[in-house]
Order: sequence, then C-alpha cells, then structure tokens
Amino acid sequence: MSQSSINTKSREQLAAEFNGFRKKVISEDRRFSTKDGHLIFDGADLVEIAKKYPTPVFVYSEKEILRNLQEITDAFDKRHNNTKVFFASKACSVMKIMDIVKSAGFCVETNSQYEVKKALDIGFKGEQIVFNGVVKKPADLELAISNDLYLINVDSFYELGVINEIATRLQKVANVCVRVEPSVPSATHPGLVTAYHAKSGIDLQEAEKMCRMIKDMPYVNARGLHMHVGDQVPESEPFALATRVLVEESMRLEKVLDIKFELINVGGGIPTPYKYGEGDALADNMYPGIDSDDFAQAIVDEVHKWREDIQICIEPGRKVVGSAAVMLTQVSCEKTKTLYDANHNVEGVVDWKFVDAGYSVFCDQLYWNWFFNYLNASKVDQDYDTWVKLAGPLCDGGDYFHEGTDGEFFLMPANTEIGDLIVFLDAGAYSIESQTVYNNRPRTAVLLVNKEGKVQKIRREDRYEDMIGYDIF
Ligand SMILES: *Cc1c(COP(=O)(O)O)cnc(C)c1O
Repeated sequence: MSQSSINTKSREQLAAEFNGFRKKVISEDRRFSTKDGHLIFDGADLVEIAKKYPTPVFVYSEKEILRNLQEITDAFDKRHNNTKVFFASKACSVMKIMDIVKSAGFCVETNSQYEVKKALDIGFKGEQIVFNGVVKKPADLELAISNDLYLINVDSFYELGVINEIATRLQKVANVCVRVEPSVPSATHPGLVTAYHAKSGIDLQEAEKMCRMIKDMPYVNARGLHMHVGDQVPESEPFALATRVLVEESMRLEKVLDIKFELINVGGGIPTPYKYGEGDALADNMYPGIDSDDFAQAIVDEVHKWREDIQICIEPGRKVVGSAAVMLTQVSCEKTKTLYDANHNVEGVVDWKFVDAGYSVFCDQLYWNWFFNYLNASKVDQDYDTWVKLAGPLCDGGDYFHEGTDGEFFLMPANTEIGDLIVFLDAGAYSIESQTVYNNRPRTAVLLVNKEGKVQKIRREDRYEDMIGYDIF
C-alpha cells in the first residue's frame, strides 16, 4: 500500500518532483504527449474526447494493450519456446478489450461461469480458456467440461469429485491443473496474497494424493500443477521460490506416479508501475520493483532445471491492461472551507475541488488507497503550484481522493477551474470490474482509442432504465 501519507519532504521539494514527473510524462512516456496544453493519449486529445462523451469515463488504448502483451511475450520467448499466455479477464472483461487480446493471438483466464461464456461468445475456443476459482458449482463445471476448456484449475478434493462425476457422465475428458499453495509470502497488499496462508489451492503435501486419484479417473487428465503467488508482487524472489516448489513437486510426482506432466502453470502477478521512477518497491509496491523480463527470468530459470520442453502457462491480468487506460473526470464544483481545531481556533483553509467520479466508479483510489498519478488534462503545460483536496460526488465523507502528492493534497495549476478535466493514469486494471451503482450513480462508459487513433465507444454507461430495470415493483 502507498506510503505517501508519511511524506517527510517539504512542499517545495514535492512540487519540484511533481513538475519533473509532469514534464517527463508529456515528453518521454510512450503513451502521452501534449498539444495546445491538452494531454494526448496515444494520439487522442482527452479534452476533446470529454467534450463529446460525458464524464466520468474510462479510455483504453489498443496500442498500449498490444505493447504490454508484446513485452510479456518477448520476455518469455527469448528464454523459452513454449509459453502460453492467458489474459486474466477479471482485470478487464469489457468484450472489446478481450477481443483485442484474442485477435493478438492470446488466450484467456476466467473466474466464473459468465466469464467463460463471455470468452466463448467472443470467439475464444475452449482450448484457449483456463478456469479458476475456489467455488465452481456443478453447472459451472459442466459448462467448462462440455466446452473442452484447456484447463480447469482444481481447487479442492470436493471439486475434483464433481469434475469426475460430470466428465464421466458426459464421457468427455476434463483437463485439469492441480492448484497447490506453494506457501511463499510476497510483499504485496495483504488482500492480494494468494499463495501463503491463503484460501486458494490445496496443501502441497496433498498434491500426490490428488494426482493418484486423478490417475484412476479415466475422464480426468492432470496436465500439471498450478499456483498464483499474488497480485502486484514487487520482487521476483517469491516467483522464483514458488516456481521451484512447483518444479520440485512436479519432478517428484512424475517419478513416484510414473506420469509425465505437459505443463506448469505459474499464474499471474506481474506488477505495473503506479509510481514512476526509482523507489523502494518493497516498502511501497506502487513502485513495480520488477518488470516482465524479471518475472520471466525468475520462472524460466527454475523451470529449466526440470525440462526445457515443458509448456509454461502464465495468467497475467494487471500488467496487460493497467497502463492501458485513463480515467477522465471533470471538476464540477469547488469551495473553500476553514479548518478549526477543537477550541475553534483557525488551523488553515482547504481548497476543495469536486470531481464527478467517486468510489462507485473508481474504487481503487478511494477505497483501497491505491495510488494513481494524475494531471489536469486541460492544463498540462503549466506549472503546478497549488495544493487542493479532490473529492467525489458521493454522500460519504470518505469519498475523497486519499492518495495525493502530499498526503491527501493534490497539486494543480493555480487557475484550475470548473470544467477542467482531471485524468488519472494507469486506471485500466480491476477498475471497470469493480464499479457499482451506489447512490444510484451510473457505471461509466468505456471508450477505446484504436490502433488507428480513432475513438470508439466500447461500452455504454448505465441508463436510468437500466438502474430501475432490475427492480420488481
Ligand atoms: C487474479 C489472478 C490472476 C491475475 O493476476 P494479476 O495480478 O492481475 O496478473 C491470475 N491467476 C489467478 C489464479 C488469479 O486469481
């Protein structure tokens, strides 16, 4: 979690750093540039976009998704010649985004019956789909088995029993991975750790028992072992350690059971940069700490101690889409309020700017205190020298942006005004997926800047008819 609230730097230092960051983003970042003082995102003028489409709205870049996928592929391909990449669709399951991933030749990872259905509807073949989850009900498993999914990652003995029953009845082979807990901690957000004291997977010590059972099941085939270390993991050691655990257990199982595994599935967790530049990622994992290359090296080095011809499956989510979207929100109200202490002495004043996005549509920043870089997209060329607090429209007192540049304070140009467009960067992962209609505010539309630089709407916002349409009245 971000440590920015314990800043010890002076405001002058922070402002100098911020303006350095701002200039770097508009001159060096592969996604951004500037024109007429506006922020340009992969060729599209965000201020012009916001004139045409109501805010709040998310804008994805097709080019950035493809660049991220390429980066991940290159990292593996230069070390290993048999890697299958499954995009974790829970990071963003907007169908056009999943379609971009499919058209680029990648596979997909799913976590519910409806994610499987979406993937099939988009045109992914069963052999391009992996199915994860601690609760897979019989109907979910029947869908998976009848569509010949590449892998069902088995999470419990109970689930294996249900798979066996359904596969036998359908007379179809269910291909599975045994999800184990490698018992490796990682220095990420406690809510994101999945391979240490976690609910997912079975004990490593029980993998042999499960594989023996599968060996006796004519309609179940164990392709290998599976794990997922965590999300936004800021160092490569946990990946290397956990891969070693899986490799050693795979080798042992092959020997004692006289079987040959087809693959090893090491899950996702490649971090994406939320804070840029050098920083202590172990203390603050908004710095990525590692990139796709480090991730690939940690894994491939361990796998090659076993076999070079084995297939490596990976399931990256955040890294694919995190940097590929921005969230646009408009300054929609402002006020100045006085801070009083308990004895009614004036402590200071706060310059509040209110935007039209609250935690109902941008939950990570406001609810998880996740850090996102930001800019006033209407005025990117100016010096930022004024400290404001930024808040959303919801009724809750907590609906303000907690992770600014100086604690809860955000730097803006002095003439920031109503109508200006505030943009949050790196907003592409797990954001659309966690929107709600709290306060009966609609979930947002999603736009795409396609490869040709054209802007298209790929998901519409909720309408009033949608919001009342669920109720039986
Ligand atoms: C969430 C999840 C992923 C994707 O994680 P990222 O951190 O987004 O790469 C992959 N595999 C499993 C099993 C997951 O639960």
